[in-house]
Amino acid sequence: MTKRTFGVIGLAVMGENLALNVESRGFPIAVYNRTASKTEEFMKTRAQGKDVKAAYSLEEFVKTLERPRKILVMVKAGAPVDYVIEDLKPLLEEGDMIIDGGNSLYEDTERRTRDLESTGLGFVGMGVSGGEEGALKGPSLMPGGTKAAYEELEPILTKIAAQVDDGPCVTFVGPGGAGHYVKMVHNGIEYGDMQLIAEAYDIMKNALGLSNEELHEVFKEWNTTDELNSFLIEITADIFKYVDPDSKKHLVDLILDSAGQKGTGRWTVVSSLELGVPIPTMYAAVNARVMSSYKEERESASHQLTGPAIKFDGDKKAFINKVRDALYCSKMCSYAQGMALIAKASAEYYGNQVSLPESARIWKGGCIIRAGFLDKIKKAFVDNPDLPNLLLAPEFKQSILDRQEAWREVLVLANQVGIPVPAFSASLDYFDSYRRADLPQNLTQAQRDYFGAHTYERVDKPKGEAFHTEWAA
Ligand code: NAP
Repeated sequence: MTKRTFGVIGLAVMGENLALNVESRGFPIAVYNRTASKTEEFMKTRAQGKDVKAAYSLEEFVKTLERPRKILVMVKAGAPVDYVIEDLKPLLEEGDMIIDGGNSLYEDTERRTRDLESTGLGFVGMGVSGGEEGALKGPSLMPGGTKAAYEELEPILTKIAAQVDDGPCVTFVGPGGAGHYVKMVHNGIEYGDMQLIAEAYDIMKNALGLSNEELHEVFKEWNTTDELNSFLIEITADIFKYVDPDSKKHLVDLILDSAGQKGTGRWTVVSSLELGVPIPTMYAAVNARVMSSYKEERESASHQLTGPAIKFDGDKKAFINKVRDALYCSKMCSYAQGMALIAKASAEYYGNQVSLPESARIWKGGCIIRAGFLDKIKKAFVDNPDLPNLLLAPEFKQSILDRQEAWREVLVLANQVGIPVPAFSASLDYFDSYRRADLPQNLTQAQRDYFGAHTYERVDKPKGEAFHTEWAA
């Protein structure tokens, strides 16, 4: 048998689908999975009749691959990635490359890149977004690490990635863990988008009294708009029309309101705190999932802590449009935070090599946050590579200024009727803080100096000069 061009280790949901994607583009592949029965099952079912060679030991797997070997590791993130790398290392030769396509923490990817590069091997930490279907038909790929290895892989990656009007959704993101960093922020933004949509739903369901059928129509209509057209809005519209075949009820109403998380949202928040970049919308989204998990405690509290009676007696149709504007304004703030975080990480960790327009471009197709809106983000950073914040790009600035009144009205209603809107509020607070030349932290500085002699600067004296006062004297 001819040598295989590409190898995949790990035949769970993502590995299987990516393997079939690569094979479908004309590349002969080899596959290996720790548990042999899964490989056998794959070969008997989905790989039947395809140009796929199964291997039942790593030695056999490595021998079937042409050099330089290109091996995609698609196993559970964390320690399993290290175990697989350690087992592979003695079997590989100089110039061979390992791609980790899992949701690895970018710091682990930095370490693995350093380690493998020091032994003459290439390592590419590659964020993959799009779930099962994206993996099979065309995901968004965010590879970083050894540049020479990426160049070897480029002809394959550009073919398996989602294709959009301005090219395949893949680019070399940057050195070390840059690819996984950008994937992590993608997931943080995804948390933000999902929470904002959930809050719009809560207001329309519980304050405006919309039925699932009406919610379906609203989201379907929003998906046709330039501002909100996106995969997440599209699937939200679908969810509201799905009826459970057994109970004949809308399935969404039968789902427990306790959201899970695997950690990428939390990592995004931790990294933002380390880098000193405010991302309050994403932080609110992570907290909202955490709060949702306190189901029993919330149920008990709901009988003891009452809020205002929920009542809206205005023009519903007009208010739905205001909710749409509030969602769009909040979304702009969330993406402004995400892009600012990538920019800071690029400067601090990746020698300014991560391109913001390219990050937005590769999210245009294949991934969960894909949206028409990303084209505008790309354009904003192409037009002005030194843009300090997305909200200052002419189009975004005008969009938010035109809609801020509606946004504030929606928050006033939510507060009056007692509907929690943590991500909407965090977004508006971000906007109001960022646009203010003066914040109340002059008082914070005075307090710090009062109790801890931390000193302060004065607005009427040269910058950098430190002052201390004996406040209690
Ligand atoms: P998964 O459930 O995260 O992992 C299962 C795979 O890992 C199996 O092939 C399993 O082999 C292997 N594995 C676990 N421990 C191992 C070990 N110690 N040594 C060798 N192999 C080991 O699979 P997944 O859902 O396909 O995800 C793979 C990666 O992609 C993860 O990092 C995930 O976070 C990321 N990701 C997933 C999605 C998604 O939608 N699922 C989307 C984007 C990214 P056995 O069969 O032998 O147990």
